[in-house]
Amino acid sequence: MASFLPIPPEKLKEILLKNKIVSEIDWHQMKKNANRRRRGIEDVLIERGFLNERYLYELIGDELKIPYINLRKQKLKPEILEELDEKTIRAAKAIPFALEGRKLKVAFVNPTNKESLEMIKQATKKKIDIYITNYKGFRSASRLYQKNIKEEIKKILETKIPQSPDTPNKMELPIIRIIDAILEAALFERASDIHIEALSDAVVVRFRVDGELHDKVEMPLSVHNAMVARIKILSNLRTDEHRVPQDGRFSFKLDEEEESIRVSVIPAFYGEKVEMRLMTDEAQDFTLGDIGLSEQNIKLMKKQLKKPFGMILVCGPTGSGKTTTLYALINILNTEGTNICTIEDPLEYGINRVNQTQVNIKAGYDFANGLRALLRQDPDIIMVGEIRDKETAAISVRAGLTGHLVLSTLHTNNAAGVPPRLLDMGVEPYLVASTLNVVVAQRLLRKICQDCIQSFKLSANELHVLGKEFNLEQMFHRFKKLKIIEDNSTSFADLTFYHGKGCERCNGSGYKGRVAVMEILENSEVIQNCIIKNSPSNEIEKMAMAQGMINIFEDGMQKSLTGITTIEEVLSIKRE
Ligand SMILES: [Zn+2]
Repeated sequence: MASFLPIPPEKLKEILLKNKIVSEIDWHQMKKNANRRRRGIEDVLIERGFLNERYLYELIGDELKIPYINLRKQKLKPEILEELDEKTIRAAKAIPFALEGRKLKVAFVNPTNKESLEMIKQATKKKIDIYITNYKGFRSASRLYQKNIKEEIKKILETKIPQSPDTPNKMELPIIRIIDAILEAALFERASDIHIEALSDAVVVRFRVDGELHDKVEMPLSVHNAMVARIKILSNLRTDEHRVPQDGRFSFKLDEEEESIRVSVIPAFYGEKVEMRLMTDEAQDFTLGDIGLSEQNIKLMKKQLKKPFGMILVCGPTGSGKTTTLYALINILNTEGTNICTIEDPLEYGINRVNQTQVNIKAGYDFANGLRALLRQDPDIIMVGEIRDKETAAISVRAGLTGHLVLSTLHTNNAAGVPPRLLDMGVEPYLVASTLNVVVAQRLLRKICQDCIQSFKLSANELHVLGKEFNLEQMFHRFKKLKIIEDNSTSFADLTFYHGKGCERCNGSGYKGRVAVMEILENSEVIQNCIIKNSPSNEIEKMAMAQGMINIFEDGMQKSLTGITTIEEVLSIKRE
């Protein structure tokens, strides 16, 4: 993403130096890093922890003498939003958020842009109070302008298309608009997948949002073939082939951002089924904090990332966000003068200056062969999508032992399960003990919607039910010891938990977005001894926890006590 700062970079540098937030050297390095990754300098500074978003915009606001407003913390009322139409707010990159008498408070991404200001004045005929906001906040607020997709598609279907001999396929025009409307709605709702399937009497479009599928719109079956054909044309697939599965991809532009979409078409009973995966580029910008690492875990990982060789393994079941974590780690390691090579299956996001390759079984390029080929490319860091066979395990360990840093994923449920799994795959215990740097295990939990969050204390009945499953007293003492509970509460009954009561922003679910919960197992001397002795995973876990490892469940509890997720979500891990 490009920079959306309303002041020139030199000005920002001056402000940051004056406030002792960066040194001359820091600035120079971060600027280089931002240019290389074609990112805004502000994103890199935030990602590297020099300052947070709020502070950055407050400083800029001070400079411009314009107050900062965080739109994501504002309750935006429809009647205020209606002061402006969607087209204007997109063009001006400004959103009205409050009305005081005749004065409309408007948040601008770039309040120094005279044209934007003029546009808003013209459209509202009101006095404008100018505020500054950041681009991300603007984008999330502008989503409130989205029209209801059901109504929009109904309108498109009702439009009469003039029939003429020049347009033999009379469905063509509305189909393009329908597909665009579906893609736009999916991007607005931050869906990860779109499913289009034919039933006996209708076409159903479903979105996966935060891991759950929702029916979005139903259309007459008569549009199905044309819709599939349109998607096939977009992704360069054969439109005359209906019997074999086909895969492709295309990109779709919304606002200034280009979104990459992976398409899979499979034959099904009532007609071809289409699955579109939205590979939003935002994912590759994830930082460890965005993913959900606690401050303690970020410190721990940063220390581990300084080691120039060995192995970093991320584990968890399918859909636990392992790949996103790998990408976030690669982003941190991606500095000038480092040669990073990857072999992935499939290749999910493009990263600048990283040599990415994709498994191609037909061409004989599997993880093991790919890894051998990459090792001849003089890499410093290698990312292997997954270690799932003996050969890949053996070559990865060897690479980690001979001066490379290897990052990969493994399909085990907990961190302590990784060493025994590698031994099962035929790797010698002393090799595992000496090459493994750190293991991360993770799950994704739903995040509480911050627009309708409420706090509560567990009722006597709820405590009773929980007490049947868990030893609450023991748990409470461990949490106190780990400082997960820092106040002076004396039992579970005193603790404050949170949930979302449901609002229009979260479709009434009380949840919005997802967060990773993690455990990070450092391969200390004690753990190395366990590995050499071939200890079972529960033994390794016990040792690690005695040394202070916070397990996934505890990390989740910490997040449920700070309003990030609910206790139900956390308990679901324990009940797996
Ligand atoms: Zn909500």
